[in-house]
Amino acid sequence: GFDASGHLRLAVQKKGRLADDTFDLLKRCGLTLSQSKNRLYARVQELPIDILLVRDDDIPALVASGASDLGIVGGNVFEEERAGGRLQDRVPMVQKLGFSRCRLCIALPKEKNYSGPRDLDGMRIATSYPALTDKWLADNGVEGAESVVMNGAHEIAPRLGVADAVCDIVSTGGTLDANGLAVAETILNSEALLIGGKLSEEKAKIAEALKLRIEGVQRSRD
Ligand code: ATP
Ligand code: ZN
Repeated sequence: GFDASGHLRLAVQKKGRLADDTFDLLKRCGLTLSQSKNRLYARVQELPIDILLVRDDDIPALVASGASDLGIVGGNVFEEERAGGRLQDRVPMVQKLGFSRCRLCIALPKEKNYSGPRDLDGMRIATSYPALTDKWLADNGVEGAESVVMNGAHEIAPRLGVADAVCDIVSTGGTLDANGLAVAETILNSEALLIGGKLSEEKAKIAEALKLRIEGVQRSRD
């Protein structure tokens, strides 16, 4: 069954961009998964590790609650949960993983000139990162601006008139460009992170074995 005692639990994205890179990392680490990715969990054959297959957004909370010992999640999701005060320092970052790199950016319609944060005064900013957006606005002295939470299709919000700007993940900028938007500010540089809380002595040893394998993969990439 799932609750095999002593096994380290690692929460990863079940399906998506982060999942592709995560499964690739595990494979390069010489780890094979015993179950299909369609299940709720998989077992690592070479180490006593159970992999929880979940939505990326749920990973920080699963680790904070102790339901999972470790997680692999984008810095964007991790920092949003932290900025929102939902982790209460129970989930320290363990290791930067160097993949799934992207930027969280504020973007404006191309025809708007941008010369600095004050140009955002009074704007409504469509985002699924309200805590990071509001914190950046406050830190940069922007007045009267507010984030409008949207869970997708941010890039059409300005054209729909529901927002003046967006704050969203950008990798190539192609999606922004296709929607008549241009980056004004980068508020976070993100990469995948291995996160985890306090572990028992036994689980810490398993985590150490996993980290050594990850470091081996990283060295071979440099
Ligand atoms: P889920 O169903 O798990 O909630 P999702 O739709 O929120 O998935 P994905 O689009 O798969 O998420 O992205 C997951 C993570 O991958 C993002 O939070 C970010 O850290 C990273 N990411 C997103 N877009 C890119 C990109 N274009 N290039 C590289 N990494 C990205
Ligand atoms: Zn998600």
